[in-house]
Amino acid sequence: MDVLHKVPVREQDPKVRAHNFEEVCYGYNEEEAVEEAQRCLNCKNARCMMGCPVAINIPAFISKIKERDFEGAFNIISESSSLPAVCGRVCPQESQCEGKCVRGIKGEPVAIGKLERFVADWARENGIVPKKAEKLNGHKVAVIGSGPAGLSCAGDLAKLGYSVTIFEALHEPGGVLTYGIPEFRLPKSAVVQKEINNVKSLGVEIVCNAIIGKSITIDELMEDGYEAVFIGSGAGLPKFMGIPGEQANGVYSANEYLTRSNLMKAFKEDYATPIAAGKKVAVVGGGNVAMDAARTALRLGAEVYIVYRRGEEELPARVEEVHHAKEEGVIFKLLTNPTEILVDDKGWVAGMKCVEMELGEPDESGRRRPVVKPNSEFTLDVDTVIMSLGTSPNPLISSTTEGLETSKWKCIIASEENGQTSKEGVFAGGDAVTGAATVILAMEAGRAGAKGIHEYLQNK
Ligand SMILES: Cc1cc2nc3c(=O)[nH]c(=O)nc-3n(C[C@H](O)[C@H](O)[C@H](O)COP(=O)(O)OP(=O)(O)OC[C@H]3O[C@@H](n4cnc5c(N)ncnc54)[C@H](O)[C@@H]3O)c2cc1C
Repeated sequence: MDVLHKVPVREQDPKVRAHNFEEVCYGYNEEEAVEEAQRCLNCKNARCMMGCPVAINIPAFISKIKERDFEGAFNIISESSSLPAVCGRVCPQESQCEGKCVRGIKGEPVAIGKLERFVADWARENGIVPKKAEKLNGHKVAVIGSGPAGLSCAGDLAKLGYSVTIFEALHEPGGVLTYGIPEFRLPKSAVVQKEINNVKSLGVEIVCNAIIGKSITIDELMEDGYEAVFIGSGAGLPKFMGIPGEQANGVYSANEYLTRSNLMKAFKEDYATPIAAGKKVAVVGGGNVAMDAARTALRLGAEVYIVYRRGEEELPARVEEVHHAKEEGVIFKLLTNPTEILVDDKGWVAGMKCVEMELGEPDESGRRRPVVKPNSEFTLDVDTVIMSLGTSPNPLISSTTEGLETSKWKCIIASEENGQTSKEGVFAGGDAVTGAATVILAMEAGRAGAKGIHEYLQNK
């Protein structure tokens, strides 16, 4: 056995996958998973667990894989996570569990993420579901938003016997897992829906098309008998650059572009989705969301540029995502910044003026500040521009809830330890509190909120 390297994972050929929306990575089969599990040293002082925000007992579940007790492995993971098939696919393991693995000191870390994904997929294919609470405790809790924060909070509370209702603004549950992350990284009906069904099987009810702050307010929910509320409404409000021409037809926020593709099924040929897919697309930004938008545009048939004002080393996206985007043919225009979007006489994008940049002294984030290179203006020939510059929480809930304090960025202020906000009985967590972050951090916050609500209702 090669102990220094991970068992390689099979992936779709980049030339083929650049034209389809099927999942890029195939994951491990049973033999590959057992072989990879053998690389785990089962450390007593498990550093990998310290790197996992939801503290999954990693050595214990990997030991079960070694014994081929895959159901046992799933039960261990389920104690800490409601969404293992999702996390096994999208968590930044390189900076979390795998980043801490002892094997990584002299070789590659154990492929913890791929093993988690294997166990979750195996459980789903074999009809194994998490265990339900034996009886209800008579308390009613409302959860706002069905993203990873809301689902984790609801799942944990249901396991403790609470009657939980999730209120979701969109017509499908899942938050960013459903409307943001593309199908080729996270299959919707095969994976996300199934994990949501697992949460429902614990007794959680999900009410869609319910916009809290418009359909009903938090105060009204509490008058209706909900004894506590958890806000997991995310950070879905996109930012724009404020440059001339940004109002043109053919300029999207990455969120809108990905939502149209995911929820309105633009990726399916038999759906007539109103998305101007574009022939030449510029995606402005260098994070994971930019990579997702670029790879989606590529699959919809466009020639795609990533336009980013800093250099390769500063790209905030995961290395794996950048690597996949390059393999598939996305063109990187680094050290480049847009200054204006040109608009034709019908109001459509007719190109994007840009300047080249150079890196100067480090700024407050520690990254070298990009400065404009003199006389470097040029026009990029594109017909579609997708802005991927980050998002912030929508102020709808905070502006309609008496006594709920927010920061100057409109993030809800809540305790990291138990999600308690400034309003009694109201808890919050995930992107709504931190601003745009990650799935696993949102899940951690959801779990903390569930613990906080449980303690609050026990003491009440
Ligand atoms: C395109 C994209 C790709 C990403 N890729 C990754 C990745 O690979 N790995 C990773 O770890 N993270 C990734 N992230 C970040 C991650 O998805 C988020 O950090 C995470 O989903 C936050 O979870 P949440 O539950 O706080 O919010 P969300 O997932 O945003 O869910 C919030 C939910 O609340 C609902 N809602 C909002 N307002 C209301 C209201 N007033 N009433 C009722 N419901 C409401 C929304 O419709 C939504 O369904 C990505 C994000 C995006 C946008």
